[in-house]
Amino acid sequence: MTMRSGEVGKRIAICKECPELNKLNFCRQCGCFMPAKVRIPQVSCPLLKWDSMNVEDSKDKIPVKDITEE
Ligand code: SF4
Repeated sequence: MTMRSGEVGKRIAICKECPELNKLNFCRQCGCFMPAKVRIPQVSCPLLKWDSMNVEDSKDKIPVKDITEE
């Protein structure tokens, strides 16, 4: 599964400004580890600060398997 790198960056920027993100990068709302969750196209923010994505026509994609390499 893949998604656009620009959209990943937008999600990360929103989460970094969110008071629900704790110091270990887990979201207090959903309990997810956000550096991984932001790379999954089908998920969304529980507070609707960002939405799920359609990635079928993307030309700029990041493999989800790269999550652990950052
Ligand atoms: S997923 Fe939503 S609620 Fe959770 S840290 Fe990111 S912006 Fe905040």
